Amino acid sequence: TVNLDMHVKNKFNYTLSTSRNIPPASKRNCIGQQSKSLPVFNCRQRILKEIEINDTVLIMSETGSGKTTQIPQFLLHAGYAKSSMICITQPRRVAAITVARRVAQELSSNIGDIVGYTVRFEDVTTKNTKIRYLTDGVLLRESIEDRLLLKYSVIILDEAHERTVNADLLFGIVKEAQKERSRKNIPNLKVVITSATMDIDHFGKYFKCKGLYLEGRTHPVRVMHAKEPHDDYVHAILVTLFHIHRTEPINHDVLIFLTGQDEIESLAQQIRKLAKINTNGPTNIRVYTLYAQLSHSMQLECFLPGPSNMRKVVLATNIAETSITIPGIRCVIDCGFVKEKFFNSVDGIDILKAVRISRAQAWQRTGRAGRDAPGVCYRAYTKSEMDSFLSSTQPEILRANPTSTVLQLLAMDIDCNNFDFLDAPLDEALISAYRSLDGLGAIEYGPISHITPLGRLMSQYPLDPKYSKLLTSASKFGCMEEILRLVSVLSSDNIFVSSNDKNELATLAHAKFHSKHGDHLTLLNVYNLFIKAEKPKVWCHDNFLNYRCLIYARNVCRQLSEISLRLGLTINSSENIESFKKCLLSGFFENVAILQKDGSYLTCSGHLKAKMHPSSVFHLKYKPKCILFTQMVQTDSNFLRQVTDVFIDWAKEVVPCLKNGIK
Ligand code: ADP
Ligand code: MG
Repeated sequence: TVNLDMHVKNKFNYTLSTSRNIPPASKRNCIGQQSKSLPVFNCRQRILKEIEINDTVLIMSETGSGKTTQIPQFLLHAGYAKSSMICITQPRRVAAITVARRVAQELSSNIGDIVGYTVRFEDVTTKNTKIRYLTDGVLLRESIEDRLLLKYSVIILDEAHERTVNADLLFGIVKEAQKERSRKNIPNLKVVITSATMDIDHFGKYFKCKGLYLEGRTHPVRVMHAKEPHDDYVHAILVTLFHIHRTEPINHDVLIFLTGQDEIESLAQQIRKLAKINTNGPTNIRVYTLYAQLSHSMQLECFLPGPSNMRKVVLATNIAETSITIPGIRCVIDCGFVKEKFFNSVDGIDILKAVRISRAQAWQRTGRAGRDAPGVCYRAYTKSEMDSFLSSTQPEILRANPTSTVLQLLAMDIDCNNFDFLDAPLDEALISAYRSLDGLGAIEYGPISHITPLGRLMSQYPLDPKYSKLLTSASKFGCMEEILRLVSVLSSDNIFVSSNDKNELATLAHAKFHSKHGDHLTLLNVYNLFIKAEKPKVWCHDNFLNYRCLIYARNVCRQLSEISLRLGLTINSSENIESFKKCLLSGFFENVAILQKDGSYLTCSGHLKAKMHPSSVFHLKYKPKCILFTQMVQTDSNFLRQVTDVFIDWAKEVVPCLKNGIK
């Protein structure tokens, strides 16, 4: 404690920057009254009128004004869901689930009845459902089968400013569906685009419609900036949290924005430990974590009311940035970074790195503190640092790997070159995507590219094409079961738990699973033993493994197996390691790197220099000549994560278009 106090004095160093001048909302008692006091409620008639007159309407208002939860209800009551449904897309599943639950509660109905949700791997709707919340990925997938989106009378594309690739594709698809429906005399499709911060001019030109600005009325949030830049923001955040803990009432809960799972889990551990030391008794801080790779039920825990004499502290990635309301949050601490994937079109490889958030994102995060009462936001960056942030987030379609996009469009018989993009991906990125898909056997590349039957199968999986390729070719290699398990574990991120004080024990425990062939077979070893364990939770604890991630993987595995069976693929199994590796290579032939004289690796096209990630079983041991990796992470240099040794000559055999081998 002494130590911490010292740090608090030294490091708790903020200046008040601004106070958003928003009048406080009137007292809110029950849920019904609460929604009537929301800003959008006063504009109800205006909103309905605009939607009645126009086919497409843009609605912009501050976060917390009631767009996501109220507008669908207005439409329901105005009779828009008589014969077909109203749907609302969300960029993330946790938002879709929690908002749907909230609206069901407001309508005093059970979830899945009038109000339901559909997210990847979970559908909670019935034939009674009139309002359906879904992720933009799910709607996109539906549109492959149903281009006219006939199930819906109104589609609300929410949080438009997030500009996920899926949302960007949906913008073009709903526009096209509107045209086609009016051409075929089918009742028209109403489209509503909503956001707190979108670029109305840009969207207005694209949709040829005007925007509706609604007056906001969230609660005031005091904004505090760090006085000086921090090199160690995690430490600064820890100190800030304990300052809040000593000065703010115990029912003021805290939401902390961090970049990813590892950072979140390690800070969670530190907070729990310090909270214990600090109180000399039962701890009065309850730590929750919220990131994409947690299972649904773990993600939803922080939304439940905590014990009354404890402070709730939620450590989250940017998945808590929009849409959701975590009850009780009055303080936000923002690290100012976000982890994003960037695409290197020369190598066809995705690189994961933490970058500065945009100013729009900073304000979204700040807004999380004023959802149900006035709040405060601590920014672990200075005001002048913030001035150098981009004003809004770059659309994902301009930086992400477009391979999946291209394949999805081709599955709808749309050529990217003819698609009406709000912002089109870069040409070189598209060309690289077409080449990759050609290599994967998903398309026949040419002046006009065609999707192959294999490509159609691949487009049925909600996965990156490299992974779908593994699944569609695994039966042929005889190792479908193994690949299903591996892909599931890879989609759940880091299953290995590290622990600062028991690091040696953890390393020893993990070493038991090591395979001399590399990390993929190591992961498979873990999974195989996990599903056999009698008491899986205890087993995970004893072996320093993340139980939640493995449960998530088991769920994904079940779903992927179902899809595979539906596609008529055979689920076979083999212990032949060479076939398993060849199968890996059939999907990840672009992610191959060759050992250099200085001990580093060069990616196969020779453009990126990288090192073995310290988490690899090969780290500090034997360095294979040629490796395949499934992830590249960039910090001060490039690191290859999840590595298996392969023979370069196999490439010619498993990737027909590489007749001359990899360059
Ligand atoms: P917007 O989409 O405009 O940001 P929402 O419709 O999501 O606004 O939320 C409006 C208000 O409803 C919030 O400010 C909050 O007070 C309340 N609210 C929404 N969801 C929940 C929830 N799950 N629990 C408690 N309050 C909520
Ligand atoms: Mg919203």
